[in-house]
Amino acid sequence: MSPLAKVADAVSSAGWSLPAARSQRVLDLHIKLSTMRLPSTAHGPDRFEWKQRTNVFAGVFSSASTWKLLRQPSPEVPWHALAWFPEGVPRYGFIQWLAFRGRLPTLDRLYRWGAVATSSCLLCSLEEESHSHLFFHCSYSRQVWYSFARSIWNMPPLDLHATMDWMRRPGNVQSHNRRLITLILLQCSIYLLWSERNARIFRGESSTVVSLCGKLNAMVRNCILSLLGSSRRIDSTLLSDWYYLTLYPR
Ligand SMILES: [Zn+2]
Repeated sequence: MSPLAKVADAVSSAGWSLPAARSQRVLDLHIKLSTMRLPSTAHGPDRFEWKQRTNVFAGVFSSASTWKLLRQPSPEVPWHALAWFPEGVPRYGFIQWLAFRGRLPTLDRLYRWGAVATSSCLLCSLEEESHSHLFFHCSYSRQVWYSFARSIWNMPPLDLHATMDWMRRPGNVQSHNRRLITLILLQCSIYLLWSERNARIFRGESSTVVSLCGKLNAMVRNCILSLLGSSRRIDSTLLSDWYYLTLYPR
């Protein structure tokens, strides 16, 4: 049958005119078709109907609806809003999501798979590189994280999951601005530390703690500036709040 054939071409006055079924799936299709009204040009021209959800069709294709139909949904994780918040940067959020799930290709995992000869941390050279070490038990990571997190926490959690728990607890972050800054800071910190680790492996380049703190400050500031320049409804004091936090830590 021609690829340009219409559905009506597969129908004759005697009913469906289809090749014999040679698999269970095609047989199921034949059975399904036998329960439906025969197509006819008298019913109007052919048109696409995209399935939106069970027994609901529309003439417009929706990638979101199609994705929801195709995938097997998993239970919602309690921390999803920490990685996928509207003001976040998707590229940073993706690395953060992998870190939250413990799925970054850290050296402890690669070593177990036999892919590398050593699992020593490239940031401190003192301990094995793992998710919990990188975020933020490593002496290098800890200094970078502390430089800004101590503006928000009296005793910044060193454990990533403890940080996530603290951020999710109602009442711990007093204002909307402060909450947004906290989210951006955590996302940028994880992304930048992972980038620094990659730069050491793949490009042989390294930054001092002071230099990386400067990069982190600029990264958070740029995120805030891009939000203020966007059409989002962002409090105009967000940037001054960030300056205040960095100048006058608790
Ligand atoms: Zn380390």
